[in-house]
Amino acid sequence: MIGYGKQSIGSDDIDAVAEVLSSEFLTQGPKVGEFEETLAEYVGVKYAVASNSGTSALHLACLALGIGKGDRVWTSPLSFVASANCARMVGADVDFVDIDFSTRNMCMEKLALKLEMAKSKGNLPKAVVVVHFAGLSADMQKLKSLSIRYDFFVIEDACHALGASYQGSMVGSCEYSDCAIFSFHPVKSITSAEGGMLVTNNQSIAKKVRQFASHAIERKATPEEPWLYQQTDLGFNYRLSDIHAALGVNQLGKLKGFIKQRQRIASRYIEELNRDKVYFATSEQIEGHAFHLFVINFSSTEQRLDTYHKLVAQGIQPQVHYIPIHYQPYYRDLGFTPGDYPEVERYYQTTLSLPIFTELTEDVQSRVISIINA
Ligand SMILES: *Cc1c(COP(=O)(O)O)cnc(C)c1O
Repeated sequence: MIGYGKQSIGSDDIDAVAEVLSSEFLTQGPKVGEFEETLAEYVGVKYAVASNSGTSALHLACLALGIGKGDRVWTSPLSFVASANCARMVGADVDFVDIDFSTRNMCMEKLALKLEMAKSKGNLPKAVVVVHFAGLSADMQKLKSLSIRYDFFVIEDACHALGASYQGSMVGSCEYSDCAIFSFHPVKSITSAEGGMLVTNNQSIAKKVRQFASHAIERKATPEEPWLYQQTDLGFNYRLSDIHAALGVNQLGKLKGFIKQRQRIASRYIEELNRDKVYFATSEQIEGHAFHLFVINFSSTEQRLDTYHKLVAQGIQPQVHYIPIHYQPYYRDLGFTPGDYPEVERYYQTTLSLPIFTELTEDVQSRVISIINA
């Protein structure tokens, strides 16, 4: 079965991992720092802290920004559940801002209206988690100006967008945000098996993230107690191992090529898929797009299901990204209901994610295209 995404592992990756296995440190060694430094340099940001998943990095962001009970965090309903869950992990309330159907990113006009209303009711959010859906950057300039006007933190869930750029700078440079998060799950731009990274230009955020990722324990050696360590807060063990970091470092060296290949695959879909049959929002934009996903919309939900079955019959397993977060039973229990966010719901009715990954062959892509066009 061919899925929508898959890692690309070379013998160089295997060698890099094997080298760590026979070295002194399996964890808390030099590879983690090397991964952090190379990634920070790649995206053009001051600080990077590795963690064992994108989800733990999102949780760490909320902890480091001091978000907690009584606070509100807003995000897009079109994302992986972790974008919203991170706020719940620190006890904050979640609310959603509907998408713009044409970009699939959070709609900045709807955000502006919702903020104005929240201001009058005195329930402004403490942070907005913005998602660069499919690898296309959200409108960060607009978001930044709203964050100044209404005084909230901006957390970028950039799990789809490592290797993407926005107005000339890399996503992750944090020019318009307080911090950004990446994931290195095998379906993402590069992989470390499991793994994540938080990047920021704010030294104090970076320091807190590092503390919370390792039990909030610090060495405090004194002449009398040279062994002394102190736990100053309630932290977690969210550390990345050197084995994972070695894979990450090696993969990062190949990221530019991976993105080029994803862009090539996307360009072919855009050129060859029949626009009378399907709609894709990304038609105009290849440059700067990381193409974690290639999503299309059909003209009806029946056509979507029919095509889904036809693809599966040919050994191709498409996916749907995503079921709107507020449809999940956990969020329904919190009071959300279908109908709350009409644009994401309209999108969900007819969407399908096509295979896009570095090693996708021309043959398989041809098969996908001909099934859809038929
Ligand atoms: C993959 C992903 C995450 C979670 O990353 P993990 O490393 O799997 O924990 C969070 N948000 C988005 C948008 C993602 O795509």
